[in-house]
Amino acid sequence: FEDSIENRHFQVYLQPKIGLKSNLLEGAEALVRWNHPQRGIIFPSEFIPLFESNGKICRLDLYVFEEVCAAMERWKQAGLPLVPVSVNLSRQHFRDAGFLDTFAGIASRFSIPDNVLEFELTESIFFDNQQIRTVRQAIQEMHSMGFLCSLDDFGSGFSSLGLLKNLPIDVLKIDSLFFDEGPDRNKDMALVEGIIDMVKKFDIRTVAEGIESMDQVEYLKRIGCDYVQGYVFYRPMPQSDYEALLIQEC
Ligand code: C2E
Ligand code: MG
Ligand code: MG
Repeated sequence: FEDSIENRHFQVYLQPKIGLKSNLLEGAEALVRWNHPQRGIIFPSEFIPLFESNGKICRLDLYVFEEVCAAMERWKQAGLPLVPVSVNLSRQHFRDAGFLDTFAGIASRFSIPDNVLEFELTESIFFDNQQIRTVRQAIQEMHSMGFLCSLDDFGSGFSSLGLLKNLPIDVLKIDSLFFDEGPDRNKDMALVEGIIDMVKKFDIRTVAEGIESMDQVEYLKRIGCDYVQGYVFYRPMPQSDYEALLIQEC
């Protein structure tokens, strides 16, 4: 791990989020890949669980965040628009009460403006009321530091409506399992429509994850979903490809 951090074997890919009103690229998510010198490209499902259990994940998340800040600085210098980027934040950070200061320090070193960096939290971090209070305070602190916050993989685990009430999130990412076109399709559609209607009333924007067909895109447009992230538009791509896309779109 240390060797790979030092030698920059971890690569930050970006997957565009498309705005359903504009049909334009309006954001991206940073997703890490490990370009291992012996094993080639390794996907996060193979190493994130390990780094979650040995504590290395916090260092990796900071690395990814810094790479994103550095990329944004490059885009700014190249005259490209600062399209917002989200990064995934492991639950392990919450063990350290001051963890956000480190992130804020990096963002200010690169002079990143407010409201273009977003932290994605997975709903699985929530266990008890004390933890919900901790996360609520962290989200308030994120806002005061100029960061946005989204709730990732909503619906994949123990999603609770209480979370939507208690956490002042900006964005809800609806998990791809609602879009798998399985036998429960009617229930999936009812749930997705209900979730989108409900959170609109709290001014929370919605992202549908893992969208692979244009039929799904048309449907999501009709029911008022704000953004789509999925292979139907783009797969996660290296930063150089993403930059080419930014140039082409702007
Ligand atoms: P996630 O945050 O929910 O990211 C979305 C995952 O869905 C990504 O997988 C993405 O490549 C995949 N995806 C996007 N669109 C589609 C689609 O249309 N179809 C299908 N089948 N898949 C799609 P990826 O990149 O393998 O990442 C897996 C998970 O690993 C992420 O899920 C996230 O929880 C975690 N992860 C990735 N990078 C980081 C990181 O830097 N830090 C932390 N803590 N976790 C990370
Ligand atoms: Mg995510
Ligand atoms: Mg997700």
